[in-house]
Amino acid sequence: MKCSIQGCPGEYEKRVIVHTVKRGADVVVFENVPAEVCDVCSDMLLAPETIRHLERLMQRQAEPEKHAPVYVYA
Ligand SMILES: [Zn+2]
Repeated sequence: MKCSIQGCPGEYEKRVIVHTVKRGADVVVFENVPAEVCDVCSDMLLAPETIRHLERLMQRQAEPEKHAPVYVYA
């Protein structure tokens, strides 16, 4: 599929990414998320069912598999 960013000649390809979501003051990190990523500008598309799955994971409020350190730039 052609990239949706104007003027970008890239194509989306299936990749597995690390996706971060802001939840209030917190950052939630998801690993192994299937996404379409542009091979030129790295624009990222998540399928609606993928987003629903991430929301379900957060709503379950299960203990995360891992914890990540978070650094604030400034
Ligand atoms: Zn692109």
